Amino acid sequence: MSAVLKSALSPSQNTQLEKLEKRLRRHVGQAIAQYNMIEDGDKIMVCVSGGKDSYAMLEILMRLKESAPIHFDLIAVNLDQKQPGFPEHILPNYLESIGVAYQIVEEDTYAIVKEKIPEGKTTCSLCSRLRRALLYKAAKALGATKVALGHHRDDMVETLMLNMFYGGKLKSMPAKLVSDNGEHVVIRPLAFCKEQELIQYAALKQFPIIPCNLCGSQPNLQRQNIKAMLQDWDKNYPGRIESMFTAIKNVVPSHLCDSELFDFKNINSSSGIIAGGDTAFDQETFSQAAPEVNPLKLNSADFLQVKEII
Ligand code: SF4
Repeated sequence: MSAVLKSALSPSQNTQLEKLEKRLRRHVGQAIAQYNMIEDGDKIMVCVSGGKDSYAMLEILMRLKESAPIHFDLIAVNLDQKQPGFPEHILPNYLESIGVAYQIVEEDTYAIVKEKIPEGKTTCSLCSRLRRALLYKAAKALGATKVALGHHRDDMVETLMLNMFYGGKLKSMPAKLVSDNGEHVVIRPLAFCKEQELIQYAALKQFPIIPCNLCGSQPNLQRQNIKAMLQDWDKNYPGRIESMFTAIKNVVPSHLCDSELFDFKNINSSSGIIAGGDTAFDQETFSQAAPEVNPLKLNSADFLQVKEII
């Protein structure tokens, strides 16, 4: 923590920042270990957009590098997409101040999306695809062995819900994957970090945030709706997002219906009880108290009646 920043915070904020940083480092360390995200000799290209998540990811990776038993290098990369009003001095100044190697890639994707997407339509999808392709190109030019993206736990749960609601798939965001062009290993070191903690961390660290709506585009409304729904659930039933994320890590293929994932056809009477059999369905008490949900929005009398029928 820099001396300047430390003195700008009250003693209680300093304590809060230290605790938060420790927790985030622990979560990032756990994700790195669980998915073998970083190996000795890696050169990691850390994608920094100017948003809270990527600033936090860079900061935590820098701290972990200082104490890691292996050697790896970090290079921060920002893509200046030439959106009108993009404050191009902010990131170079910040990256210089923290002493990290960095590169700013300048490419006018703004002009491309404006030309290709009709007025009034959302440009985020094409913009993101172009950004991803340019970042992979930069990774190749830099000889980076890994590309780190700043998605966090809540992004992963939102993606799971989006895929279930609109894509008919039980699929989230991978913590580690091979890029679509097959050339890069992409990692998400914030996979275990809660968005709320990243928001607090960014505020305490006073990161110079650059908004992602300078282009005036409307970000993905479906994602915004899902986010609002999840936050609402979590407010009413604390721990629900965490429980859903834990579920992503505890998949039981035999208790889903994907015959490509589990060989249902060859189950026979000598197969034995598989993954606890049917008992999970009958289990009345869950480790985390699951409050009753009334998803059909029935009034209380209807709800009781339905419960009786069930
Ligand atoms: S808000 Fe603008 S800059 Fe951000 S992803 Fe969408 S189109 Fe791109």
